[in-house]
Amino acid sequence: MNLVIVGTGMAGYTLAREVRKKDPAARITLITRDSGDSYSKPMLSNALAVGKAPEQLIQGPAAKMAAQFDLHLMVQTQVLAIDRERAQVRTDQGSVSYDQLVLAWGAEQLHLPTGGDAADSIQRVNHIDDYQQFRASLATAQRVAIIGPGLIGCEFANDLLHANKQVTVIGPGSWPLSSLLPETAGRYVQEKLAAAGVQWQLGQTVARVDRAEGGYQLTLSNDERFEVDLVLSAVGLKPNVTLAAEADLKVARGVVVNPLGQTTDPRIFALGDCAQYGERWLPYILPIMHAARAMAATLTGTPTDIVFPQMPVAVKTPAVPISLVPAPAGASWRFVEQEDGLVGRAQLDDRMVGFILLGPQKLRQSLVQELG
Ligand SMILES: Cc1cc2nc3c(=O)[nH]c(=O)nc-3n(C[C@H](O)[C@H](O)[C@H](O)COP(=O)(O)OP(=O)(O)OC[C@H]3O[C@@H](n4cnc5c(N)ncnc54)[C@H](O)[C@@H]3O)c2cc1C
Repeated sequence: MNLVIVGTGMAGYTLAREVRKKDPAARITLITRDSGDSYSKPMLSNALAVGKAPEQLIQGPAAKMAAQFDLHLMVQTQVLAIDRERAQVRTDQGSVSYDQLVLAWGAEQLHLPTGGDAADSIQRVNHIDDYQQFRASLATAQRVAIIGPGLIGCEFANDLLHANKQVTVIGPGSWPLSSLLPETAGRYVQEKLAAAGVQWQLGQTVARVDRAEGGYQLTLSNDERFEVDLVLSAVGLKPNVTLAAEADLKVARGVVVNPLGQTTDPRIFALGDCAQYGERWLPYILPIMHAARAMAATLTGTPTDIVFPQMPVAVKTPAVPISLVPAPAGASWRFVEQEDGLVGRAQLDDRMVGFILLGPQKLRQSLVQELG
């Protein structure tokens, strides 16, 4: 077998590891445009709380990963196109042939249109290299603005409090995490993070970011202005689909795959943040683990459907720990207080279809079981 995987994030390396377990003889090539070092991406948003420098987040340097799992690693190599007829990927270092190809090339940060002469100084973190730069800037920054009160924005906000930074979070919703949490839960999180020190500018967008003495001046949509030393945007991700679409593979929000993880070309698979499993886009670690195990079986000759169990989303905000299984539209939420927290259950047609657990996480497993 000649397997080529594009990407050395959690998806690429997890799959390589799973395939190697099943087939000691397979030729496995990983191509990545970065250094190929394996790191924990989730820890980018809680590294300050756990006292880690960026380089301490690297769990497996590229050379060690290659030796440990017998991988042919092509680092600092950008894939430019997929040539399905020749079964090759074209890179800036030449072409690479495959029997089977797995796209594990992740997603890009969304860029919202922002005016002002410093809009290009807004930082975004979806990779350890971005994070190195962010931490370097943080060394001389006290006031930090975060654009985007979603999961990643809230995690960074809470983490920056551990470094005694002054944090303002800005977003258009009326409460934080508004795409995941209904109002009762969102307001609770808002209050807890405010009590810990986060300042909120909700119901607002950032119209301009301009240079100011020693920092930046933000102008909000209501014309309010204030100055900060650093601006971080965390407004969401866009799966990488361009090269897949150019190769005439079916794409929607992500690269669309069937239950085996195959794209519309049976020799090409997609995994991780770039993939869309049916209607679902699941940019988290647990889906990667489950999908990689099944995909490794398929790739080594035992076709195996990817089946996802209930996978609660955890938000790393120690000021108010959160886990949840989002409910479908139309569900109704009922909340009860728990010691220093809230528990919400979502009902639809007399069935529990989701939950939210805010505060102590002792009930988490029993809530998953209640969901069935
Ligand atoms: C700050 C932060 C915190 C998070 N916290 C959590 C959490 O607590 N729990 C959780 O479940 N999830 C969390 N996530 C999400 C989770 O980390 C991601 O779902 C996961 O890491 C995605 O892995 P991936 O391999 O699909 O993509 P990536 O890690 O983005 O890897 C993509 C790879 O593809 C390569 N690549 C891209 N394009 C090309 C190209 N054209 N040519 C060559 N190489 C290419 C890149 O170099 C990279 O190696 C978090 C994400 C962030 C940003």
